[in-house]
Formats: sequence, structure tokens, C-alpha cells
Amino acid sequence: MMDFQHVINSIHDDLKHEVNRGLVANYIPELSHIDANNFGIYLKLISGENFSVGHSNTPFSIQSISKVFALSMAFNFKGDQLWQRLDVEPSGDPFNHLSLLELENGIPRNPFINSGAIVIADILISQLDNPKADFLNYVRELANDNSINYNESVATSEKTTGFNNYAAANLLKSYGNLENKVEDVLDFYFHQCAIEMNCEQLTSAFFMFANHGVCLQNIKRLSSSQIKRINAIMLTCGFYDEAGEFAFEVGLPGKSGVGGGIVALLPNQFVISTWSPGLNPKGNSKIGMQALEAFTTKTKLSIF
Ligand code: GLN
Repeated sequence: MMDFQHVINSIHDDLKHEVNRGLVANYIPELSHIDANNFGIYLKLISGENFSVGHSNTPFSIQSISKVFALSMAFNFKGDQLWQRLDVEPSGDPFNHLSLLELENGIPRNPFINSGAIVIADILISQLDNPKADFLNYVRELANDNSINYNESVATSEKTTGFNNYAAANLLKSYGNLENKVEDVLDFYFHQCAIEMNCEQLTSAFFMFANHGVCLQNIKRLSSSQIKRINAIMLTCGFYDEAGEFAFEVGLPGKSGVGGGIVALLPNQFVISTWSPGLNPKGNSKIGMQALEAFTTKTKLSIF
């Protein structure tokens, strides 16, 4: 077997002293205090072996990575009906772009831009008895880890500064593509983004996306076809207007968040996650992308 520990150690060594680490997100004030020197990698093989280096056990704000969990839960509830309220096309726009303004029908371009994730949040609060508790429980089950929690300060911080998301939710409401109250949908959305996880927990929770819908606890949660679709959306939309670049450099389906986390996977083979809080101008972790590019180059393991 390939010496995966050696591979991730050497990537970590090469990048840990890089001076140009990007900028920590400051539009959510509570995230601006995070040290840009944090850097961890965790690799989980589907066969069961795990490898880690650096700050892979430090929890961080998963932010938009949560959109994959939310999509998978809503897809399970609604099946293909979901696509009546959302499209699956890459937007070529930043995550917070109000692309609804350009549409006639109020259908967001995909579930990973903020407006699409807000529609998913609306679907989940219509479906769940205790939306925030039930969603957290779902993520805990996927990761097989009950210590995962919301960071209330981060959720409050975004609630007080998330004007762009209020604009998106109001637009959706005006088009009739939001069933619940704007305040309630955004309260849920800001909380889902404020879940804290470390690299290890993220690779565990994403295990089912590399394993045909069967999670770590050996429960089949989604069909293989649904998993194929979610992975396709990760590949084409997971990095917003940098999805092309990520496919070009790394060649894996994946998802980023403005907390500096990235999770990517190769079906049947592995899940890998990185955390480095500094972002590039497109809002994706700068060092994380470089680390994953190096990983798929060194191991020759990508979907291409
Ligand atoms: N909560 C963030 C927002 O809505 C998520 C953005 C991200 O991680 N790309 O702006």
C-alpha cells in the first residue's frame, strides 16, 4: 500500500511555513479571530485506515460545508421533487451572489450558493419537528460523534451581519420559493453554518458520499443514484466560481466553507479534509486547495 502518512506529512511540511496563507474571513466578525497558521489534514480510507497531520483535531466553523449535509437530508425527504425548487447548474458566481435577480422564476442556480442553501433550509424546517436539534442530530449520526455542536456566538455573529443573506431570503420569499418566515429560515441557516467540527469528524461524516450512501455506522441513508447526484453537484458547484479551478487542479468532488475547511472524496477509495483558515479571493482555503492539489498529484488518485 502507498505510504499515505509520508505523503500527507510531506505536503504539510511543504506548506506549513508558507507566508502567503490568504485572509481569514472577517465579514462574519466571530470568525476573524482565528489564527491563520492552523493547518491540518485528515485522510480516511474506505478500507478503514486513517492518517492525520497537524491541527486535524481542532474544531472549526464548517460554514458552507454544512450545505452538503442539508442537501442530503432534504434529498432524502423529497426525492426528485427537490429539483422543482432548485436547479443544478454551476453559477460561475460567488457564493453570496444574488443571481436570483437575473431569473424570472426565483429558482436558485444550485443548492450550494447561499440562495439555494436557503431554499434547502426552508424545506428542512417544513419537514422537521425540531429543526435545529434534528439537523444537529443527523450530522452527529453521520459522523458517529455526539460531541459535535453549534457555536452560538458564530450563529449570532452572522445573524447580526448577514444582510446579504436577508436579501436573498427576501427575494426568494417574493418569488414564492420560501414557505416559512424569513427570520425562521435564516435562524436555521446561520446555525447549520455555525456547526463546529474538526477534520477527522468531517471525513467521518462524509464517508457515506464515498461509500454509495452507506454511513460509518453501516446504515444505508441515500441511494447510490442520489449519492452520484450529490457528488456531481459537489464537483460542479462545490467551490462556487472556482469549481472549474478545483476540478482542474485537484480533480475530486468536494466542498469548501469560509471557515477554511475543505472536504473532498474519491468514491470507493477515500475522504480527505483539510483546514487552513486563510482564504483566497474566491472564498476558498488557499493552503487547503494547494494541499489537495499536491495530494492528488503525488498519489495519482483523482476521478480523472
Ligand atoms: N455562512 C456563510 C454565508 O452565508 C457561508 C458561506 C461559505 O462558507 N461560503 O455567507
